[in-house]
Amino acid sequence: MSAGFIDTELQRLKDAALYRRLRRVDGAQDATLIVDGREVINFSSNNYLGIANHPSLAAAAKAAIDRYGCGAGASRLISGNMALHEELEAKLAEFKGTEGALVFNSGFQANTGILSTLVGEGDMIFSDALNHASIIDGCRLSRAKTEVYRHCDLEQLKLQLKQAPSSARKLIVTETIFSMDGDEAPLAGIVDLAERFAAMIMVDEAHATGIFGVNGAGVVAKLGLGERVLVQMGTLGKALGGFGAYVAGSSALRDLLINRCRSFIFTTALPPAVMAMALAAIDLVRNEPQRRAALWENCRSLKLGLSGLGFELGASESPILPLIIGEAEKCMQVSDALLANGVFAQGIRPPTVPPGTSRLRITLMATHSAAQIERALKVFEAVKAQT
Ligand code: PLP
Repeated sequence: MSAGFIDTELQRLKDAALYRRLRRVDGAQDATLIVDGREVINFSSNNYLGIANHPSLAAAAKAAIDRYGCGAGASRLISGNMALHEELEAKLAEFKGTEGALVFNSGFQANTGILSTLVGEGDMIFSDALNHASIIDGCRLSRAKTEVYRHCDLEQLKLQLKQAPSSARKLIVTETIFSMDGDEAPLAGIVDLAERFAAMIMVDEAHATGIFGVNGAGVVAKLGLGERVLVQMGTLGKALGGFGAYVAGSSALRDLLINRCRSFIFTTALPPAVMAMALAAIDLVRNEPQRRAALWENCRSLKLGLSGLGFELGASESPILPLIIGEAEKCMQVSDALLANGVFAQGIRPPTVPPGTSRLRITLMATHSAAQIERALKVFEAVKAQT
């Protein structure tokens, strides 16, 4: 069989400036990283609170390995449902203020699994145009008819809901903080529409968990909408510094997912050390609000500095600052020039973002120092003058 298409496809990506390569990172995840052998300031991580390398997470993971060993050995429904999975789910439910919670092996698996469990052929999904790839794939997998509404456009969403057959089961799905733009969904308006048109709501709090709302429980908690949102999904690998994902909601929702969700059922359970890290992370997030305060102060200061240099940063209300460049090739040139000068701000290109909106996705951490931000601003200024 000829595999010539592989070379052709790779060449096509290179010609379009869309070819990607892995960068090697040495050392632990922190405000600085060793990238391809050089120390750089890290503005490319979702480790927003800077706890991925925290001693209490590491100690919890080590203790779990000593007590429970390394692997879970089987899926949750066979023999992999270990004490720490249940302990974490009880803690997540309490953290989120819901009846129950269920842990998933990743946010990607959670989104594809939840969507394809809740709706199917003959049903309808209403999905924001900038939702994450895992949500898009979940919509496809579900076989429900998917209406994509313009980003955060409540008027178009209303029209689509109005035109949907009343017999169809309906589900609205949105991120609360959008991963590539950092803006916030108009959740209160979405909830009103969902109630008016009898639709279910699913939110993805991947980039909100740990940093928004009371105790860092997310945007739903910040807005006090917990009672009105059926499915609250979030991840454990971003601000919580570990790995995995969760869904929080009613006990009945949890039960249905355990029974019907293929990405929960047919996969080996996460290792106990990963559960232990998440348990320690929730304690840190709740008990150390000063981390959120430091993060917001860093956001304010970098945003102010970049705007002062004439950069456009969109409508971000989070630690994700999109610095739109436009064309993919130029975007990677700017990203490479920053990296050469010690600032790691990853260029993001299609298909992750729409064509013509390639950008630097600059992300802040609570652990960036004022000196690091100041130094980065000098580099941004110099690179702007060069490119
Ligand atoms: N949802 C959003 C909005 C994301 O940005 C991501 C990113 O990774 C995911 C889901 C997937 O989560 P995970 O990395 O845990 O698979």
